[in-house]
Amino acid sequence: MDITKEWFIEKINNFLENDEINRMKMVDGSLIFDPDVIVGFVSGNDPIFSDYKKIIGEFYLTPKEAYSWYCKKNGIPISTEDISVVAYILPIALNTKKENFEYSKDKPSERWANTRLFGEKANVNIQRHLIDELKKLGINAMAPIQEKLLFKINRKIWASNWSHRHCCFAAGLGSFGLSDGFINSRGKAMRCGSLIVDYDLPSDSTKRPLDPYEYCSNCGDCIDRCPVNAISFENRHDKNLCSKHVMGTVPYIKENYGINIYGCGLCQVGVACENGIPEKLLE
Ligand code: SF4
Ligand code: SF4
Repeated sequence: MDITKEWFIEKINNFLENDEINRMKMVDGSLIFDPDVIVGFVSGNDPIFSDYKKIIGEFYLTPKEAYSWYCKKNGIPISTEDISVVAYILPIALNTKKENFEYSKDKPSERWANTRLFGEKANVNIQRHLIDELKKLGINAMAPIQEKLLFKINRKIWASNWSHRHCCFAAGLGSFGLSDGFINSRGKAMRCGSLIVDYDLPSDSTKRPLDPYEYCSNCGDCIDRCPVNAISFENRHDKNLCSKHVMGTVPYIKENYGINIYGCGLCQVGVACENGIPEKLLE
């Protein structure tokens, strides 16, 4: 059986519709992510992954490095000629975006915080589900972010050695924005995921814009939305200021929503790119 983009879209949308983990179980049981995902493919040997090493840092893993590590760990013969990266976007539910916009000028809403915690658990389970489904077809796959001995976050520079968003860019799903969020046809308010599959999938690299900020209209909406001035035209996104504020929300979320997580996302709602690529760039 051939695996196609439709195969991935159907598997993920079905998961989002039917798996309890995609429910706001601490709120009202509604869906965390809308079952309206988009999926992109790119060859694991695409030169953009070597470029990422130059742009992000030597520590950044190419799909070839990550998949070779996985093969070695599992005693699988190393074959990286046909590997592909599959990237996807999970759109955050409309009522969550609305609530996070209306709730406060400096604190995340309850749904937003629950999305950050339980939505990410759903995202992890989607990757596991896809890997299991591919294995049933005799196809090996792995998700670097879930390999605890491989995946690393450098908190000094707030960069990790594997990035879902950079996979989404490589797979032609959209571009970065001023606030470092990922602008795509489902909007910047999303979570995304990626995995490496030992299967030659048709690459979407021709859809990848030359400019990594192609779909950002520079409207400045996100600048106005940030409570700590972490976004500016001059310096773009100040990750230190941002993370200080985001991590500082933990006590508020614990006290008010009863869960242990951080969150903000105020720059992702009430902005031109919240639900899609800004209108004026589509004209
Ligand atoms: S709100 Fe405007 S400036 Fe900010 S990332 Fe979106 S399109 Fe770009
Ligand atoms: S996540 Fe919050 S603190 Fe960080 S840039 Fe966006 S609005 Fe500012």
